[in-house]
Amino acid sequence: MTEDTIGLTLGYGIYIKQGYLTRRLLSHELRHVHQYEQAGSHEAFLTRYIGDIIRFGYLDSPYEVDARYHEINI
Ligand SMILES: [Zn+2]
Repeated sequence: MTEDTIGLTLGYGIYIKQGYLTRRLLSHELRHVHQYEQAGSHEAFLTRYIGDIIRFGYLDSPYEVDARYHEINI
């Protein structure tokens, strides 16, 4: 998380920087909730998420690609 971070999901907790709430961002973060559920535990999700960020970079990490794919842009 950096000062540029505007959204963060930890399990069922979604944190959005004040003034940045949009349908698109919320749908992105809700997809991360789904990913947490599919991973089975916070530890399983975060281990894979962080490993993928290191391996592929933030934009190309599979969880981020998937979350962007499921964004609602209306
Ligand atoms: Zn994301």
